[in-house]
Amino acid sequence: MASVTVKDIRKTYGDLEVIHGLNLEIEDGAFVVLLGPSGCGKSTLLRMIAGLEPITHGEISIGGQVVNDLHPKDRNIAMVFQNYALYAHMKVFENMAFSMRLKKTPQAEIEKKVNWAAEILNLVPYLNRQPKQLSGGQRQRVAMGRAIVRNPQVFLFDEPLSNLDAKLRVQMRTEIKELHQRLKTTTVYVTHDQIEAMTMADRIVILRDGYIEQIGAPMEVYNRPANLFVAEFIGSPG
Ligand code: ADP
Ligand code: MG
Repeated sequence: MASVTVKDIRKTYGDLEVIHGLNLEIEDGAFVVLLGPSGCGKSTLLRMIAGLEPITHGEISIGGQVVNDLHPKDRNIAMVFQNYALYAHMKVFENMAFSMRLKKTPQAEIEKKVNWAAEILNLVPYLNRQPKQLSGGQRQRVAMGRAIVRNPQVFLFDEPLSNLDAKLRVQMRTEIKELHQRLKTTTVYVTHDQIEAMTMADRIVILRDGYIEQIGAPMEVYNRPANLFVAEFIGSPG
C-alpha cells in the first residue's frame, strides 16, 4: 500500500492544455473515485499516475517516492481497463500468471498466487478456459486477478464496468469494494457514472475540463456541492 500525491500536474497535447495544474493527496489504503463527464481528463490523469503518459509539468509521488521518471513496470501499480486487455490465446491461468512468468517466479509460487487470486475472485472453475469462453463479468474478474497477483501498492481502474450490463455492473461494484476491503490496496477508480462514484468511493474527486471542481466524501459532495456544475452532475436535491 502507498499514498499517491499529485502536485501541480499539467498535461498538454500539442498546443492544447487538457489538465490544468491539479493537486491531489490520496491517502494510503483509500478508495478514491475520479468522477466527471467524458473528455474532462480522467483517463489522462490516471495514465500519468501509471506512467503510461508523460507528465508535461508537476510531480507525482507514490509512497513518498517521486515517480515522474520511473517506468510503469517499476511503479508498483496495477491498472485494470474497460476492455480487459486479456491475452486471447492464453488460458485464464496463464493470463494471471503472465507477469510472474516474466519475472521468472518459481512455478510453485505462481500456482499458489494464481489459486489464491482465483479463490478470491470466484474463478477457480474457469482457470483452464480461454477468455472467449467467459462472460464479461468473468473476464473483468480475470483482469482483476492479473492485477492482484502482482501485489501492487496501488490499483488504478479506468471505467472497468462500462462494458457490462446494468445488473452485472451493480454486482461487480460490490465485488470490487469487497476486494478493496480485503486487500486494503490504495485505489484510484475512474468513472463517469455518478451512482458508481457515490456507492464506491471513500472520497470523490469531481473533474471538469481538466480542473478539480470539488473533493469530498460522497454525502459531502451530494449535500454540499461546491457549485452548480457539481450539483447538477451529482444530481443533488435542488
Ligand atoms: P476522459 O477520460 O475524462 O474521458 P481523457 O483524459 O481521455 O478524458 O481526455 C481529456 C482530453 O484530452 C480530451 O479533450 C481529449 O480529447 C484529449 N486527449 C486525450 N488523449 C489525447 C491524445 N492522445 N492526443 C490529443 N488529445 C488527447
Ligand atoms: Mg476516459
